[in-house]
Amino acid sequence: MSFELTDEQLITRDAVRQFADSTVAPIAAEIDRDHRAPLENLPAMAELGLLGMTVPEELGGSGSGTVSYVIAVEELARRCASHAVIVEAHSSLCCWPIVAFGNPEQHQAYLPDLAGGAKIGAFCLTEPGAGTDAASLTSSARRDGDQWVLNGQKVFITNGGFADVFVVFARTDPEAPSAKGISAFIVDRQTAGLTVGDPERKLGIRGSSTTPVSFSDLRLPATSLLGREGQGFAIAMRTLDGGRTGIAAQALGIAQGAYETAVAYAKERIQFGRPIANLQAIQWMIADMATDLEAGRLLCYQAADLEERHLDFAIQASMAKLFCAPMSVRVASSAIQVLGGVGYTESYPVERAYRDAKITEIYEGTNEVQRLVISKSQLR
Ligand SMILES: Cc1cc2nc3c(=O)[nH]c(=O)nc-3n(C[C@H](O)[C@H](O)[C@H](O)COP(=O)(O)OP(=O)(O)OC[C@H]3O[C@@H](n4cnc5c(N)ncnc54)[C@H](O)[C@@H]3O)c2cc1C
Repeated sequence: MSFELTDEQLITRDAVRQFADSTVAPIAAEIDRDHRAPLENLPAMAELGLLGMTVPEELGGSGSGTVSYVIAVEELARRCASHAVIVEAHSSLCCWPIVAFGNPEQHQAYLPDLAGGAKIGAFCLTEPGAGTDAASLTSSARRDGDQWVLNGQKVFITNGGFADVFVVFARTDPEAPSAKGISAFIVDRQTAGLTVGDPERKLGIRGSSTTPVSFSDLRLPATSLLGREGQGFAIAMRTLDGGRTGIAAQALGIAQGAYETAVAYAKERIQFGRPIANLQAIQWMIADMATDLEAGRLLCYQAADLEERHLDFAIQASMAKLFCAPMSVRVASSAIQVLGGVGYTESYPVERAYRDAKITEIYEGTNEVQRLVISKSQLR
């Protein structure tokens, strides 16, 4: 399969690449070192349309299609994985389910602000006792007249430190079998009873904010319910199907950036009187990295293309993530190897790439979960 980008997709790629080179790359090492989110870049990202790519034009987004979206995530991650995951969590995990499952009032209330960057979104599924087994979540929402009363604790919430809007999953029917009794809600940050905890100190993507979020007798109007009562788990799973293509793109971009650094270095570094690029050992690593990238890009773009054309894409999204995430770790590791000692230091961005790549094997479904999803489809 070959994948030819349209003129519009190429324009998106070039525009995001230019932005990533000029505005993201200069602060990438610093936000990593300081564990701080690049809030100063959010207005420019909004201006470029990066925060509204999963929102239709009539609701204030750029409605640019899934392929353009994954290209944008890839290009950001090529320079800084933290910028990429901020966009991904906001777009795939918050905007998208509101577009897909929200009613017209919810669309008008939330999407123009989210798409324009006036508000940032987050997705609250994981709990201390419910990670991979998300259906076992215990956060609860109980009806009280025309309100819902939300209680519970979420952990590892990307964008938690600064998000304005949270898509939250809670159990509304304690009697129903685990996945059936869950509903989704849209929660504003300023609602009384919402507390955001201290950010996690992480191995990688340190420029993204990852926090616990808790709810204590938080009162929501009935209109906060997203989709139907009891539909929450299905909303979460469908949202994560799309999110996986975004994480595959993030992994791909991290690997691409590391690869480019390795190629440039191999041509410059002289040992034994000639560039190390002349050594077959280095050439083979470059060949393997280039092949990995090509395969990952095809899987990732294919999944995005299927989604954009409203065809079944969930298995391809899992395959793209299952291939691209370990591929990203592998390529970043090879890039360090090509650079030798300096690759292990902060002098070059490949050590950051290596640390950033690892998370793509964990969030939005671990490698093991992707294998479960894929094998189930094959053995059905
Ligand atoms: C930086 C970061 C950002 C995140 N952002 C968000 C976010 O924005 N919103 C959100 O809701 N969550 C978020 N998460 C949570 C993330 O999605 C979970 O960490 C992930 O789903 C794994 O859950 P867990 O950590 O509880 O691991 P566990 O579920 O405890 O898994 C531990 C190990 O057991 C394996 N395992 C578990 N069950 C099975 C099984 N049935 N078969 C085979 N192996 C299995 C796993 O693959 C893993 O290797 C984030 C996490 C991190 C670290």
